[in-house]
Amino acid sequence: TVGTVVLDKDKNIVSGTSSSGLFMKKKGRIGDSPLPGSGFYADSDIGGATATGLGEDLMKGILSYEVVRRMGMGLSPMDAAQTSLKDFEEKLERKYGKVGAMSLVCMNNKGEWGIATNVDFTFVVATNEQEPTIYTSKRTE
Ligand code: ASP
Repeated sequence: TVGTVVLDKDKNIVSGTSSSGLFMKKKGRIGDSPLPGSGFYADSDIGGATATGLGEDLMKGILSYEVVRRMGMGLSPMDAAQTSLKDFEEKLERKYGKVGAMSLVCMNNKGEWGIATNVDFTFVVATNEQEPTIYTSKRTE
């Protein structure tokens, strides 16, 4: 998946995903990427988020919406992403005994961003002040 969250000069937030699906995907499989709330979510009054990883697990929740909701409650993007991922992982672990790979990127309507991941994860940040910069994160927590 390529997931993006973009803030424009008029303070509009959009998020989008483009997924190749998973390797050897089943015919008719949809995955989380096209599902609002699960694969992506945006609210210009708050911010936006996108998810990537094992769609079969991501589709069991609405993680992108949850990150935006937590930013709306006042959490920083980094805290919103990391607490949302941790809580969701704990729920999946409790219910199913296992958790697949998942990563999140998000940004609030001030241009502050956050990420969370349970695998090695590469992402890019670009702003008016910052040239596109590639970051790699190990599992966060
Ligand atoms: N989340 C995507 C899916 O399950 C795969 C990916 O993130 O690469 O379809």
